Amino acid sequence: MSLPSRLIVECPLCHASYQQEAVRALGETTAGKLFHCSCGTCGRSMMALMRENTGYVSTIGLVTDQTVNDAIRLADRTPISADECIGAHVLLEGESQDFLELLQK
Ligand SMILES: [Zn+2]
Repeated sequence: MSLPSRLIVECPLCHASYQQEAVRALGETTAGKLFHCSCGTCGRSMMALMRENTGYVSTIGLVTDQTVNDAIRLADRTPISADECIGAHVLLEGESQDFLELLQK
């Protein structure tokens, strides 16, 4: 790997340098290497996807409220499908009264 991306060296939100233990490599997929970064200064977190193409590195960052433990726990889960989203919407629409009553218990 060539020079590390700025996104996993410094918090893009407050520009503090990350502590070494604040950046965790979560694994590698065909899309690139995935990192979770927690900023000890501002307390915010980011997921970073790093790709390397013939000598240059590009990184995409996404601000998240996901902790590093959740990121590790959820890494192998299959994505939520469109059908599951529609199913949840239909269920909530049809039974929102029951759902709210359950939440209040
Ligand atoms: Zn920060």
